[in-house]
Amino acid sequence: MTAFREAVIDLAAVRANVAHLRELVGTRHTMAVVKANGYGHGAAPVARAALEAGADWLGVADIDEALTLRAAGIDAPLLAWLHDPDADFAAAIAANIDLGVSSVQQLRQITAAATRLDRIAHVQVKLETGLNRNGVDEADWAEVFGLAAAFERVGRLRVRGVFSHLANTSPADDQAAITSFDRGLAAAATAGLTVDLAHLASTAAALRLPAARYTMVRLGIGIYGQSPFSDADSAALGLTPVMTLRGCVAAVRQIAAGDGVSYDFLWRAATDTTLALVPLGYADGVPRQALDGARVLINGVQFPVVGRVAMDQFLVDVGTAAVAVGDDVVLFGDPAAGAPSAAEWGAAAGTINYDIVTRVGARVPRRYIDADAGTGDAAGGQP
Ligand SMILES: *Cc1c(COP(=O)(O)O)cnc(C)c1O
Repeated sequence: MTAFREAVIDLAAVRANVAHLRELVGTRHTMAVVKANGYGHGAAPVARAALEAGADWLGVADIDEALTLRAAGIDAPLLAWLHDPDADFAAAIAANIDLGVSSVQQLRQITAAATRLDRIAHVQVKLETGLNRNGVDEADWAEVFGLAAAFERVGRLRVRGVFSHLANTSPADDQAAITSFDRGLAAAATAGLTVDLAHLASTAAALRLPAARYTMVRLGIGIYGQSPFSDADSAALGLTPVMTLRGCVAAVRQIAAGDGVSYDFLWRAATDTTLALVPLGYADGVPRQALDGARVLINGVQFPVVGRVAMDQFLVDVGTAAVAVGDDVVLFGDPAAGAPSAAEWGAAAGTINYDIVTRVGARVPRRYIDADAGTGDAAGGQP
């Protein structure tokens, strides 16, 4: 079956990636990060597969993303860490969502919401350790931990974890962040807090910086089978790409030497040749920016993308190959199956694999397959 356009999501690959990473990393806890609709793969199906493979925490950025997972029936431990200034903390507390705390103000808002509900809020304090994004500044650690300990004593709060995030800039920068994070853990202990979870590493540090593993790692890109590194591909890390973006050839056209192709005639044929039209465009997440080196797989052969990518479509120069309307086209997938990688598309577009998979648009249906559950589509294949 050749779909017009689709993203095939292999849930068996998610499980294999999670199991492989857990084995390598060996921490007591593993968080699967499924923010941004599971990096474009579908948050709920990926979350379920990751939990089946032994992940025991889920992580998202926004409370809304966490509530969507709860509405899908997922009751696993779940942390949300990036909050709207007007966030509905009560809804999150009522849904048993752990809340990242990045300021004294958030700590007070969360505790007030817990008091109104007569519930205990579970929080994890995010420390600023060098990235300069979200997180409590070191100057405020004593105040935040002191206040949190006081709220714990009156039964309004439980500080379940302390965490931060690395810049992955250099070994020296990451070591400085680890040293800073250790000072933060000491400050929490000084305030009388006993935290179950300390976590600093995302996929990159989980793989290459054992000192950053603590009691939990937060695995995002790796569970999707993509490498966080420019010097090691998925296969080198023992990971299987989860998403295959594909479509079918919508038209085939012969053109003459000198003919221009697509808007602005960025490309002109050097010789008489044949073009195949692929029905995915920037509305579907195919990058519009310069695509020197982007290729697609048709009938077992990789062909170059030529000319400007439009909103709904782009062209491929197939030369003299026998390509027909309806033939299957793979934009990216598993290189072990001959497909270009998301990382190669990233390199061609001046970006990274994270950006390529996450941007796949809402118009592209996701189709879930699960090799372990049989041969065909996963049961309940809707996210
Ligand atoms: C997105 C994110 C992660 C996951 O990072 P990967 O590089 O995809 O593994 C972990 N922690 C935080 C705070 C994040 O925002």
